[in-house]
This record gives sequence, structure tokens and C-alpha cells, in this order.
Amino acid sequence: IAQKSAKGYALYELSFDKHTPLRLTLMSELRRAIEKNDLALFYQPKVSIQTNELYGAEALARWNHPTHGFIAPDEFIPMAERTRMIKQLTQWVLKRAFRDCATWHEQGIDIKISVNLSTRDLHDPDLPDLIAGIAAATGIKPEWIILEITESAVMNEPENALAIINRLHDMGYQFSIDDFGTGYSSLAYLKRLPLAELKIDKSFVMDLMNSENDVAIVKAIINLAHNLGLYVTAEGVETNAILEKLKEYNCDIAQGYYLSKPLPVTEFNNWVKKSKA
Ligand code: C2E
Ligand code: CA
Ligand code: CA
Ligand code: CA
Repeated sequence: IAQKSAKGYALYELSFDKHTPLRLTLMSELRRAIEKNDLALFYQPKVSIQTNELYGAEALARWNHPTHGFIAPDEFIPMAERTRMIKQLTQWVLKRAFRDCATWHEQGIDIKISVNLSTRDLHDPDLPDLIAGIAAATGIKPEWIILEITESAVMNEPENALAIINRLHDMGYQFSIDDFGTGYSSLAYLKRLPLAELKIDKSFVMDLMNSENDVAIVKAIINLAHNLGLYVTAEGVETNAILEKLKEYNCDIAQGYYLSKPLPVTEFNNWVKKSKA
């Protein structure tokens, strides 16, 4: 796997202008990639800060394009959202993530798998039945799954999104609010959502050692979450110093390059074995 950027894959500076033929070509290629199973799902470990134990993993999509190489999800996911390809993409991710999750649980690896949902997914009335179908086909239990949503995805027609979220929550799925602090945040919605987890956006975590403001923000978010009965995950943990600070602030879970970058399944399995040894 080519690792040309800090994110672990080559970033292509393609300009995905709405009307360029390139974008259309890529979209039909993405459709084919999904059909041919040319996407990959990587897993990034989440570790309990106080005990050092593996808590779970976040599933992150990768597209290994035959000529462009690894295309970052930040590039193809927003594009898939705009062209309505996201439904197929999310379906592919859910199938793969649930199947991998079932395998880990069969092997006695008791982890929770986090899956990212997009704005359009949260407005798709078929989503709960789709998820129920994939759960039945793979044999996973809803409590093994955390569905990550963003503030902005909920803010767009919130009543529709809330109805879908509540149905999935009633079925036993857990919800996490992702990139917390970066959306058009509304504490009113935070209160109405059936959340289990809050994820502090990495932009507040990465500079923790240098920014007094980020320290204040991170501490405030942790207190807010704990007072609401939620557990807190910090993403973007790149150094041991940051991990120690988060421990001091009583943050629950850490995710970031210091622990591990996102890994393909076989490497993830090796990481799990090594971390247990
Ligand atoms: P996200 O959900 O906020 O995921 C965390 C991103 O932070 C991932 O980028 C991860 O590789 C990166 N990251 C993890 N640890 C560190 C660290 O220590 N330092 C830094 N600088 N970055 C770190 P990735 O995999 O490129 O994904 C980017 C975004 O694409 C995700 O952000 C998520 O919004 C979206 N995405 C990825 N996979 C999926 C998917 O299957 N479905 C949907 N809807 N969105 C996805
Ligand atoms: Ca996420
Ligand atoms: Ca995030
Ligand atoms: Ca993000």
C-alpha cells in the first residue's frame, strides 16, 4: 500500500468540480468499484484510556483506484453524497463491517465497531430495515455496533433524521456524535438525540500541548458529555503526551496514529494479538 501522505494513503489533488467530466467518470467508476468489491474497509483501534484495553474500532472506507491509487474518503464521500451514490456505498460498508464484526465476535474478540453514516443516510426511510436485514444475514447483535452521525447531518431536516435515529436506537443500535464542536452545533439537539458516545474532533485534540484554548475546549466537552451520561472518545491522538493529558482530564477512549493508524483486517488482527501479548 502506498503511503504518501500523513493520512496513510496518497491524496490526489483532483478538483471535483460539480460539472467536470472527470467527476462523472469517477462516479461511474465508484459504482463499478462497489459492484466489483474494489473498495476496502480499514479499521482504526479505539483504546480505553484508563485500562489500556481495546474498546473497539472505527470502520473507514478506502478506494483503491486502478489509475489514481488510493483516493481519500474526504474526496469521494462528499461526491457520493451529492450524486446519491452514498446509499450503495453505505450499504457496502455496513455489509462488510457487520461481517467482519461477526467474525471477530466468533473469535472471542469482544469489540464494538463504529460505522459512519452520512447526511443522506439519515434521511433515508429504508435505512432501519436495510440495517436489520444486514444484521440478520451476518448474525451481529445491535449492541456491537456504534453508528456515527454528525451534528450537521442531523440539523438538516432534524425531525426526519430523529425519527430514523430513534427507530435504530429502539432496535438496540448505539449512536455517537462525530466531529463534535465543528458543526452548526446546537446543544438543543444534543439533548434530544439518544447518544451513547461523543467524539471530540481531532482539530481540538492535535494541538492540545500548545493551545490553552484547546485545553479549555477539550475539558469542557468531556465534562459536558459526562454530565449528559455519555462516554467520550478523543480522535487524532498522535503522541503519548496528548494521551497522558487526556487521561488526566478523564477522557474515556482514545483513537489516533499514536495508538494505530487505520489498518486492513489482517493487520488489525495482528495489532490485536500484539496488544494482548
Ligand atoms: P472521521 O469520521 O472524522 O474519521 C477520522 C479520520 O481521522 C480518518 O480519516 C482517520 O484516518 C483520521 N485519523 C485518525 N487518527 C488520526 C490522527 O492521529 N491524526 C490525524 N491527522 N488523522 C487521524 P479518513 O479515514 O481519511 O476519513 C476521513 C473522513 O471520511 C471520515 O472522518 C469520515 O467523515 C469519512 N468517512 C470515512 N469512511 C467513511 C464511510 O465508510 N462512510 C462515510 N459516510 N464516511 C466515511
Ligand atoms: Ca467518524
Ligand atoms: Ca471524526
Ligand atoms: Ca472528520
